[in-house]
Amino acid sequence: MLNTIRDLDIDGKTVFIRCDFNVPIDEFGNITDDRRIRAALQTIRYCIDRECKVVLASHFSRPKAGVFDEKYSLYPVYKRLDNLLKIKQELYFDDSKSGEVVSSKAKELFEKLEPREVLLLENLRFDARETKDDMDFAKELSQFGEIYINDAFGACHRKHASIHAITKFYDQEHKAAGFLLAKEVNFFSKVLEHPSRPFIAVVGGSKVSGKLEALNKLIEKVDKIIIGGGMAFTFLKAMGYEVGNSLVEEDLIEEALHIMEKAQKNGIKFYLPVDVVVAPEFSEHTTVKYLPTQEIPKEWMGLDIGPATTRLFREALNDAHTIIWNGPMGVYEMDKFAKGSIKMSHYIAETHATTIVGGGDTADVAQRAGDVDEMTFVSTGGGASLKLIEGEELPGITALQE
Ligand code: AMP
Repeated sequence: MLNTIRDLDIDGKTVFIRCDFNVPIDEFGNITDDRRIRAALQTIRYCIDRECKVVLASHFSRPKAGVFDEKYSLYPVYKRLDNLLKIKQELYFDDSKSGEVVSSKAKELFEKLEPREVLLLENLRFDARETKDDMDFAKELSQFGEIYINDAFGACHRKHASIHAITKFYDQEHKAAGFLLAKEVNFFSKVLEHPSRPFIAVVGGSKVSGKLEALNKLIEKVDKIIIGGGMAFTFLKAMGYEVGNSLVEEDLIEEALHIMEKAQKNGIKFYLPVDVVVAPEFSEHTTVKYLPTQEIPKEWMGLDIGPATTRLFREALNDAHTIIWNGPMGVYEMDKFAKGSIKMSHYIAETHATTIVGGGDTADVAQRAGDVDEMTFVSTGGGASLKLIEGEELPGITALQE
């Protein structure tokens, strides 16, 4: 059983919340998608309403440890959070630019913190000890809260100090999952254990290797599996097609064959692209052709699924009751190769199925397509949701139960 914040007596206490504020930022330092910040509000407001002093911590991207770098500061998150919280309580931020997380300024702000006030610490990864699951750092962080709440689903598959080591300083009455984390875990386990059928997995993205375990697990649970994106070419090559310079993992061809055999043996319908958008080079400004998969020229590469494939996949999705979607259908970052992913997003959104979108890129596609509100659930964590599909325990979640 996973304790949630509701199971703890937090009234008037100091609460340390590990959030996931790892949001996308453009070249001007603007947050382009604040969903992760908004998703954290429920837990934060719950604490504020219970007269708690609240301390928030998160990692942000991959800074060099030990030196302050504006590019990796949580300052933009602080500004957005300040805007979103709006109500009267104060939000403080350590703006000392010291490159330390547990800095003297942070400690000073913490000492002065009143009930209903919130303090956001600097990027946890400014301290090299965070990613090393360091006990001393975890202990320092634990000084910021009598209660530890983990609401960072997207980071739960990592054994880091603020996710894992820190839990050793709290007993069961003083640590729990926040609302966001509990929702993510419950949703995935419910769908994976008792899916309403037909249950269809749509899997894309760049490589088979990153999703091999998930594919192997999904093949035991789903009724249909639809493959697009770069990973489709390893399967097409395994079937004997010429795939030119498309992304292929030669060492996984055997494995791809094995997956397809397993699908056939289990009576699972397996769908691959029947046509592709090909280009002579990996570039936005290149020429493109729409060709059947049988006709990919030797020197060209497939960068999106073609129009016949989107129609085929739409047909296959028609009777779905549950859809899990992880991975774009093409190089959606370039407009020329985004159509397949955008169309699939529309088709998935328009079904009457329970639809679960997992993975940062996939959520980004759904966002660009304007379909987020039509999906049943958009997970904030890509790697973590894959691990749940694989049936693995997430260190951050196990640590809350110990
Ligand atoms: P992943 O992180 O494995 O989900 O992969 C997401 C990435 O896959 C995106 O950045 C896409 O641009 C990329 N991708 C999708 N389709 C292709 C393709 N046909 N060739 C190369 N990269 C692709």
